Amino acid sequence: MSTKNKNTLSIVLPVYNEEEILEISIDRILKLKQKIKDKVSTEVIFVNDGSNDNSLNILKKYIDCIKIISFTRNFGHQMAITAGIDYAMGDYICIIDADLQDPPELIEEMYDLCNNEGYDFVYGVRKERKGETFFKKASAGLFYKIMKMMSDTNINLNSGDFAVLSKRTASEFSKLREKNRFIRGMIPWLGFKSKAFFYERDKRVAGITKFPFFKMLGFSMNAIFSFSNKPLTFAVQLGTFTIIVGTLISLYYLYLKFFTDSLVPGFTAIILTIIIFSGVQIFLIGIVGEYIARIFEETKNRPLYIIDKIFDFEK
Ligand code: UDP
Ligand code: MG
Repeated sequence: MSTKNKNTLSIVLPVYNEEEILEISIDRILKLKQKIKDKVSTEVIFVNDGSNDNSLNILKKYIDCIKIISFTRNFGHQMAITAGIDYAMGDYICIIDADLQDPPELIEEMYDLCNNEGYDFVYGVRKERKGETFFKKASAGLFYKIMKMMSDTNINLNSGDFAVLSKRTASEFSKLREKNRFIRGMIPWLGFKSKAFFYERDKRVAGITKFPFFKMLGFSMNAIFSFSNKPLTFAVQLGTFTIIVGTLISLYYLYLKFFTDSLVPGFTAIILTIIIFSGVQIFLIGIVGEYIARIFEETKNRPLYIIDKIFDFEK
């Protein structure tokens, strides 16, 4: 094959405080690059998402074979991936975490699926979660179940952001500039031909997860509220149900008042009604609030991320 029509594959890796692991990651990625070099040329892009450890300095040591996009501060995993996709020049783009939980060696097979079988989007689906706590597995399981129930878009159970996408998928994706991003739902929304790729997810080689419980919760809420109007529908349904039940109870009390002598003591009924329905009301106002907060975020129309510096040996 001549070099002229050889494809380029861009590998995008988001990095946030991964000093313990970066050398190993870079090493494994560069080995892969070497292994597939006859088939496809590889561009490696690390997105430093405002790390405050030694990550950037480690990356800089490899400046003549990797590209680095460095943010001014931590904008989050989803923004780092977005920046990488925006910047990547390849015919295909691979998104993979820098912590080696998704084995880089699988990229070749995923790339082949795209290139040989014409898929625009091949996404990794975890067969097994090794070395993750029971709590993480259970919460992830629950999350995907709720997500499926609540969402209108088909989001694949157990998929992360490990994927290979074609250039046209990437360029359509880059047009989606919403602030509340849930990338593993946004790319399927584009509708290009896609395929699930099953694999076993490894343990983190070193370091700790950057998604503690509350960050994960925030991420899940984001996924639900920015991907679905169903909570609002649910609010309306619950409201309707409450009105119907309330009317029936009222009719009952009116009957007691006008047609019987039994004086209703009533205190318990009133206090229970107040407690339960104030809870319901606050909950429903909260749902509406979640949407308003998102509308507010979107109308501010700020950029998704701010780049401090780009290190690109080709430019
Ligand atoms: N990450 C990032 N910005 C963040 C948090 C995480 O770029 O604010 C990166 C992190 O360095 C890693 C990837 O995103 O490469 C996935 O993070 P992590 O492994 O902590 O998530 P988990 O696998 O536990 O869900
Ligand atoms: Mg991880």
